[in-house]
Amino acid sequence: MQNRCPCGTGNPYSACCEPIMSGKKDAVTAQELMRSRYTAFTQANVDYLMSSHSVKTRPIKERKSIEQWAKSVSWMGLTILNTQAGEASDEVGYVEFKALYFENGKPQQIHEKSLFQREKGKWVYVSGAHF
Ligand SMILES: [Zn+2]
Repeated sequence: MQNRCPCGTGNPYSACCEPIMSGKKDAVTAQELMRSRYTAFTQANVDYLMSSHSVKTRPIKERKSIEQWAKSVSWMGLTILNTQAGEASDEVGYVEFKALYFENGKPQQIHEKSLFQREKGKWVYVSGAHF
């Protein structure tokens, strides 16, 4: 019985986000990187959240507060709503998603369209627009 990945693919964690987060495998698509970043949020893995963030927009100063916030909420699931480009042959991609969580016992959601691009050949998160 293997643990399913928190990102919601239904695949085992060890064959989904874990190899991407540990650096054994690069995310092939922007969506795979997006999923691995959601999983990192569920684990408050701020090292990975920083390393998968564009060096141009990486929020180094907010590192501690991101970690504390990620630990303080209960992550309930990720839904990918839409993707544009971000495939294996692309340099840029967009992923629109909803992430559900409970904060102080209240259900909350992030609905965001995120921009990803490649840096040194690897997908990274650049920025997001909230709905
Ligand atoms: Zn996953």
